[in-house]
Amino acid sequence: MKKLLTVFLSLIIACAGILPCFADDGKCDCGQSPIIYVAALGSGYVFLDAGTENEKQLFRPETEDILADFAPLVPAAGELLLHADYDAFGDVLLDCVNKSFGPLAMDNEGNSQPNVTSEEFHPENADHGIEYSYYFGYDFREDPIVNAHKLHDYIEEVKEITGHDSVRMRASSMGGVTTLAYLNLYGSDGIETIIFQNCPLQGTAVAGELYNGKLHIDKDALVRYASGALPSMDSDILAGILITIIDMLDSAGVWAGLLDIADVIVANLKDRVFDEALIPIFATMPGIWSFVPDEYYETAKDFMGLDPQTHSVLLERLDYYHYEVQSKAGELLKAAQTNGTNIYIVAGYNMQRTPLVEAYMNNSDGTVDTQYASVGATCAYIGEKLPSDYKQAVKAEYNYISPDRVIDASTCALPEQTWFIKDMLHSTCHDGHDAFYRVLFESKEQLTVHDLEEYPQFMQNDTVHQSFYRVERQGTELEEAMKDATQQTSFFNIMKLISTFFKSIWKFLMG
Ligand SMILES: [Zn+2]
Repeated sequence: MKKLLTVFLSLIIACAGILPCFADDGKCDCGQSPIIYVAALGSGYVFLDAGTENEKQLFRPETEDILADFAPLVPAAGELLLHADYDAFGDVLLDCVNKSFGPLAMDNEGNSQPNVTSEEFHPENADHGIEYSYYFGYDFREDPIVNAHKLHDYIEEVKEITGHDSVRMRASSMGGVTTLAYLNLYGSDGIETIIFQNCPLQGTAVAGELYNGKLHIDKDALVRYASGALPSMDSDILAGILITIIDMLDSAGVWAGLLDIADVIVANLKDRVFDEALIPIFATMPGIWSFVPDEYYETAKDFMGLDPQTHSVLLERLDYYHYEVQSKAGELLKAAQTNGTNIYIVAGYNMQRTPLVEAYMNNSDGTVDTQYASVGATCAYIGEKLPSDYKQAVKAEYNYISPDRVIDASTCALPEQTWFIKDMLHSTCHDGHDAFYRVLFESKEQLTVHDLEEYPQFMQNDTVHQSFYRVERQGTELEEAMKDATQQTSFFNIMKLISTFFKSIWKFLMG
């Protein structure tokens, strides 16, 4: 009897699982089109000599390989301190960099060396629904056009395996570049919804500046950059201790001293690093070129030494992505929307961007500038506000200026479909993001920033409660630290408050 019951129950469970899925024509009628996650840079690992005994994972490099490749730097640094022989140190440094990353370089047409390959992605089972995502990764070095064709094959495979005619997509970071190229090549038929999360849709200034040889290390930016990553650490206690140490060393002038040393090293080695490593490795890499914003693009070709004869094929490929895809990002997204695809853009802000370039003051999520991820927002510099007499640039019936007066969304390509999350670190999500994206995915209609009480256009990221709340007026540094400590109480935020308090006193005493 017990056995019979078990069989009976198993049958019910099995039927419940199978029944809504496949009708007679092989189509699934569950009403939940599959979701594809178009992943970020580094999603597809890149291998040297795959399948041979010399196989090495070039990207992301394994920690032991990095340690082995860069081990010679330790004695070289010692020598540098003793003899200040920058050339000798440069020789060792460049050897290390080229050993580790040299094989990633593409040929003059922007194609990989034959012995450097990347894993291929295919959907592995038919599981789908709001809880599941198919994972599409790719070789970040490749022309986004090449990856967009692969994404197309992947979408077709997902439709086939699940018995659906349409899909939903979430693109993260570089995944947005691939998806934008896809829209250019294939349009948006069969795509219900696309969420772009922290995507360099119009590039990122760090690529634009490095491709123009602009290097700049700012001490305060470096400190903010390091502190900005801490709330996303697994250990709240460790993060709290680290912020205290970082701030104490800052007040004691230790960072400024180290930066002075770094400045001398950079001044002595910058040209060699560009000429002997960065340019040879990255000049012909179309994937990274897709990150170069329009204002940097043409001058970057000169700086990176692209030659109209030697690199004619490459230049044609780069220009195609740049002028037909990136420069037309807004048009491509609007066309997809007109075609019935729901488009959502999520951009982070108020994070210190990579502190190595002159554009370190750009508002960003730490990696991608807010203006480029949002396709056109007008942003104040990091830590600053729009001028007090600033008026919304594009007249509309809604107010598109953030309550903290940092962002004017009225200049965005899609102001009604673009959300801004304050203090969201690049592509770092929690349950709150999942819940938000779920609401967007579940709507058949295109939602706007005015539709959702719970998700206003400008949201404060709350990593402690894994949720969001409405952005408020911006206070002083101390007031902001106080707000964080009360609304997102954690050891880290309390230590940040104490540390900010002592820094204010310190500043006051030092005049
Ligand atoms: Zn289904």
